[in-house]
Amino acid sequence: MNSPDVSLVIPLFNEAQNLRPLAARIEAALGACDVSYEAVFVDDGSADESLDILRDLCTEEPRFCALSLSRNFGKEVAIAAGLDHAKGRAVVIMDADLQHPPEVIAKFIEKWREGYKNVYGQRIDRATDPKLRVALTGVFYHLLEKFGDVRLPPGAGDFRLLDRQAVDALLTMRERARFNKGLFAWIGFKSIGVPFDVDERAAGRSTFNFARLTRFALDGLMSFSSIPLKVWTYVGLLISAFALAMAGYYWARTMLFGVDTPGFPTLVVSIAFFSGIQLISLGVIGEYVARIFNEVKGRPLYLVAERLGAREAKAKASDPSQ
Ligand code: UDP
Ligand code: MG
Repeated sequence: MNSPDVSLVIPLFNEAQNLRPLAARIEAALGACDVSYEAVFVDDGSADESLDILRDLCTEEPRFCALSLSRNFGKEVAIAAGLDHAKGRAVVIMDADLQHPPEVIAKFIEKWREGYKNVYGQRIDRATDPKLRVALTGVFYHLLEKFGDVRLPPGAGDFRLLDRQAVDALLTMRERARFNKGLFAWIGFKSIGVPFDVDERAAGRSTFNFARLTRFALDGLMSFSSIPLKVWTYVGLLISAFALAMAGYYWARTMLFGVDTPGFPTLVVSIAFFSGIQLISLGVIGEYVARIFNEVKGRPLYLVAERLGAREAKAKASDPSQ
């Protein structure tokens, strides 16, 4: 089978209400572009009727295919699964909740034809996000900007077009703690932003709650910066220098004025303070060790329970072992 010009990779989790409107908008938007395309839906262990709807969509439209993962692996891994599966000469990654307007893809393709290999959608404003999330996200990006080893363009997210060359580069990175935005920036290639307005989520709710976003932010920081590990050397040096100075001071004072028993509060406070610091630094090391353990186990990134679509049927027919 010839590879299409563009593959859409669409991770989804409980998006039953959004799938049909999404499919219709994709067909309208890409039909208007002068490209051949396929859409790879990745059902990330949905518990609603998403998979049944995908089954229908894939039978109705030969350009659609779908993977159903064996459980919920998270959006980052679902994207990786989609990329593994996409055959296009370029891949567009987009959400299934219609927050990423398919009409923008035409502009992505235009830039791709101009020679850009990493064309990212840049949200014009974050008005659709809760205020606190915007503020905390700001702090996180600031930290990553300062201490991380990747530069993330402001407002860029997962909605983007990647040339085959960039996709192949991403496919070589099999890390489990995935922070796609960092990986997209890490691979480099000729990049450009295309501004777009984020729509409101069409139906359903975002699954990225506070706890999940915190985990995600930690993954990002720890995958792209070793500062949290290294900073303790400097904190330790500073505290040791301070302790030495204090020792000198007490020694001089004892020599001059003799022994002075009070000082119990100072002792208790400093012991508590330094135990706290030690526990924090141990915890940070623990976070990295846990991540190393996770990577070293070498488990597959995801498991596929079912594949849907014309391409799959053909592959199955020619290879019965699949
Ligand atoms: N998603 C996914 N797996 C998950 C959570 C979300 O594939 O475990 C998909 C979801 O269906 C949507 C996209 O990732 O297509 C973005 O999710 P969401 O809208 O919840 O996030 P937000 O837009 O708030 O960042
Ligand atoms: Mg969304």
